[in-house]
Amino acid sequence: PILNDHSELKPRRPAEEYIKGVLAGNRVILSQAITLVESRLESDQDLAELVLAGCMSHTGNSYRLGITGVPGVGKSTFINAFGMHLLDQNAKLAVLAVDPSSQRTHGSILGDKTRMADLSLDKRAFIRPSPAKETLGGVTRSTRETILLCEAAGFNTIIVETVGVGQSETAVHSMVDFFLLLMLSGAGDELQGIKKGIVEMADGLVINKADGENLLAANKAQVEYQKALHLLAPNRNNWSPMVLTCSSTLPSGMEEIHSMLEAYKTKMQTGSDWKENRKRQARQWMRDTILNLLEDKFFKDKGVQNQLPEFDEQVVQGVIAPTSAAKSLIRLYLQGL
Ligand code: GDP
Repeated sequence: PILNDHSELKPRRPAEEYIKGVLAGNRVILSQAITLVESRLESDQDLAELVLAGCMSHTGNSYRLGITGVPGVGKSTFINAFGMHLLDQNAKLAVLAVDPSSQRTHGSILGDKTRMADLSLDKRAFIRPSPAKETLGGVTRSTRETILLCEAAGFNTIIVETVGVGQSETAVHSMVDFFLLLMLSGAGDELQGIKKGIVEMADGLVINKADGENLLAANKAQVEYQKALHLLAPNRNNWSPMVLTCSSTLPSGMEEIHSMLEAYKTKMQTGSDWKENRKRQARQWMRDTILNLLEDKFFKDKGVQNQLPEFDEQVVQGVIAPTSAAKSLIRLYLQGL
């Protein structure tokens, strides 16, 4: 199991203290509560559950925004600029960001300060980095819980960033209200390393770096993507994804992106789509958790651990079919319960 930031060495508080602190919007305690729900230590599980339970009735009141794109597209620069725009509109913003120390970009490791420079200095924003290395592009099993804790702490806009590497997009898509894909002009989807299906998942496409020499190409790309998306059926909830351009460095285009998010929310909330989407996600979350917990328990089981090498060998040698081996191991596990 992956242990994060030596959480096993830190003393814990009583559940009541975490709950009170989070609900009061205390940043230090919020961070500690996040560390607690991120912990994979057996001894932390009950406490984490209590804390979440105590916060549940104060959750759900935020705009959950997922942002993805390949490394170098400008995610952190964009979140910095868009985040500042949101703060100026009085949003209470929390960003669950990919930890720079675990992400390689252009062959160099970006320092903390170069990512989201303004936002990280602004006391109004709360930024929580999560490691990209050992997890799914910065999305962990506990990202959903972290969203809930941030909501309980009073944040009404939550940005979840993920590195565009594939699986992580599906995970983030399943936990946000709006899924935004950042793109570059002048390179096809494949060249950009965008996995098939990601474009179809997006509620909005934004072509970044629409500035200087790149401006014309960005506008051209916008028209092309608009045409291409027109051919696709409207995605979830009958929403036809929009294509916009922006510059995160100037910055420009932030208002338009904000308007798109508001238009989406208005449309979704006019009917029952907003709520239905959240309900669907909650059901999915429970099912995903069941699978995760079962997987954990299965592989931690002593009997399974004893037998696994033997089965591995026989599967590798072609003595048993992998499906048969899997079924035998599961039978063994269930008998041992
Ligand atoms: P990330 O890996 O997706 O988080 O990308 P970064 O935010 O680190 O940006 C990668 C590089 O692109 C950096 O050198 C940024 O300064 C640059 N960049 C990001 N957004 C823009 C933009 O809108 N215009 C221009 N010209 N450069 C940008």
